[in-house]
Amino acid sequence: MPRDYYEVLELGREATDDEIKKSFRRLARELHPDINRHDPAAEEKFKEVAEAYEVLSDHERRAIYDRYGHQGLRSGGFEPDFGSFNISDIFEAFFGGGDLGSMFGGGARGPQPGRDVAVQVSVTLKEVLTGTQRDLELEVTGVCSHCNGNGAEPGTPIETCTRCEGTGQLQSVARTVFGQVVRTQACDRCGGDGRVPQTPCKQCRGRGREVQQRTVTVELPPGIDSGQRVRVTGRGHAGDPGAPVGDLYVLVDVEPDPRFERHGEDLITRLDIPFTDAALGGTLSVPTLEGDEDVEIAAGTQPGTIVRLRDRGLPSLRGRRRGDLHVVANVLIPSNLSDEQRDLLRRFAESANGDTYHAAPDGLFDRIRQAFRG
Ligand SMILES: [Zn+2]
Ligand SMILES: [Zn+2]
Repeated sequence: MPRDYYEVLELGREATDDEIKKSFRRLARELHPDINRHDPAAEEKFKEVAEAYEVLSDHERRAIYDRYGHQGLRSGGFEPDFGSFNISDIFEAFFGGGDLGSMFGGGARGPQPGRDVAVQVSVTLKEVLTGTQRDLELEVTGVCSHCNGNGAEPGTPIETCTRCEGTGQLQSVARTVFGQVVRTQACDRCGGDGRVPQTPCKQCRGRGREVQQRTVTVELPPGIDSGQRVRVTGRGHAGDPGAPVGDLYVLVDVEPDPRFERHGEDLITRLDIPFTDAALGGTLSVPTLEGDEDVEIAAGTQPGTIVRLRDRGLPSLRGRRRGDLHVVANVLIPSNLSDEQRDLLRRFAESANGDTYHAAPDGLFDRIRQAFRG
């Protein structure tokens, strides 16, 4: 069962003709196939919108629909048929072929620009620190090196296309629910060029394009993060002659590092501290991106204490100062004691009194409570 037409156009039942038209135009713009090239559902959604508009913009059909719904339209012989409908026909019918380009910025006609290429690259946190570069091996469509893109074997003539008489376009008239629609398509013989080589280039068989292996060196700046993209203009696929070349997008993925958790420019690491070191204080080795570093641990360090190492985090993409490394104390309690150790600890426990333990005011428990309070 199709959706309610008013719902499709996001209108109430009392909508005026003007509101119906406005709503349709707005939705049609949003769902235009050139804008939604990567959303295969957009075309279906557009057809739904066009069908709703077709019915609600016609007083007779709207009245039938209001009284009897979808079923009424069907039994009245008004069933819309968009199944075989080409979406650009609808647009041309509504907005006029000439409007298409200006309205959506880049129309369906004219030389098509080259497509973009996307490549994913993994980097380590250490590479995020220093910045890095990658040589990417790409297969892209390029201009044929043998014919320089004109499709003719060098030294052979190029003739005006007889099918489109050099215009590069073919027109056909189609009958649609909106009446007659004149459709313009690129000529299938010359591919829209208007000219045909007499002897097609041997290397590209007249297409003017060929797949090329290419190595592109990409700079990944310090501070880059997962999900960010580096754009290299003009390194994508070649388009039609005269049209711009596509771009290369490098999608960055930072590999997880078991030692560090990243929070923007700051890093967090866990430092295991034997309870004796936590109690007595001492020097411990802490991993940083630039190697291990000795860090003083104060006597009486509590579980969850954070020691901040300034400027040991990651650089900012905008070149401000580096972030910090936060070292979280993970105090280790022994779980495997020898008889002698158990004895020592018992003696220690007997000597302990109320002054021995001083829970820090911002101890682990308080911190967890803070975190939950959010
Ligand atoms: Zn060629
Ligand atoms: Zn032609």
